[in-house]
Amino acid sequence: MTDDVLKVTLLGTGIPNPSIHAFGTSTLIEAGGEKVMIDCGRGAVIRMSQLGIPVGYVDTVILSHYHSDHYSGIFDLLMSGTIPQGWAGRGGPLTVYGPEGLEDLAEGAWQATRPDRTIRVNDNEIDPEHMRIIPHVYTEGVVYDRGGLVIRAILVDHGDNIPSAYGFRVEYKGRVFVHSHDTRYNENLISQAKGADVFIHEIAAARDTTLANYPKVKVAIDHHASPTDVGRVFAQTQPRLAMLTHLALLPPDPLPMDDLLSELAAEYDGIVLVAEDLMTIRIGANISVEPYRHPAR
Ligand SMILES: [Zn+2]
Ligand SMILES: [Zn+2]
Repeated sequence: MTDDVLKVTLLGTGIPNPSIHAFGTSTLIEAGGEKVMIDCGRGAVIRMSQLGIPVGYVDTVILSHYHSDHYSGIFDLLMSGTIPQGWAGRGGPLTVYGPEGLEDLAEGAWQATRPDRTIRVNDNEIDPEHMRIIPHVYTEGVVYDRGGLVIRAILVDHGDNIPSAYGFRVEYKGRVFVHSHDTRYNENLISQAKGADVFIHEIAAARDTTLANYPKVKVAIDHHASPTDVGRVFAQTQPRLAMLTHLALLPPDPLPMDDLLSELAAEYDGIVLVAEDLMTIRIGANISVEPYRHPAR
């Protein structure tokens, strides 16, 4: 990798609904010698293995908020990462940055991992401290600043019952990647996403009949941004490349992609790329997006 490229790998682009095609949200950021995982949803370590990346490759995770699809994979990363073999081998604790509430996760993980830890310590396989989460609670602003890689948390609006949910602005050598994570239409995100090379935004939609007949679908939809919302966000921020992720096209009769994209297009006339797991985005002099299954690999 050339030294001035900000490399973003979409390990997971899904929602809580289990899908082999779209695992829980997780994004690997690599720049210079820095590597940080943002969110660790279901199956993140499986996606790493598909790319030949050892489970112990990252020792730093930033969590956007505490819906399960954004952190249920962290226990696998935490525990499996300690195993002293080439495919894991973290060799130290896991540093986790998260909004308020992180201590519960860190303390709970220490308890929940004890049975596995005890076996491995008694076998002289691991240092018990390698299975510890070192928690750092963050608020809006710079979360990570090392080796030229700067990651800023942006307070977003993920609904009234979620006071602390964040998107992120990732900068390296003038390259800018912005990820909305989970949010409704949000002016703070719009103002802090200006000048992005790549801006990836969540999106959710359901048919009017579904909303009328399934109140719980309405509850879910109200936490997220509609196609019209997302189109307005892209129109106001004008990223070099706009992308969609975390597509919540809710059952039982999901809105077709054609409908979703035409609603968005009524507000935004630029190129929109729909993300999939294992896409690699390189942001340098140009922007490239490489799907996992490209036949040249
Ligand atoms: Zn989510
Ligand atoms: Zn969420």
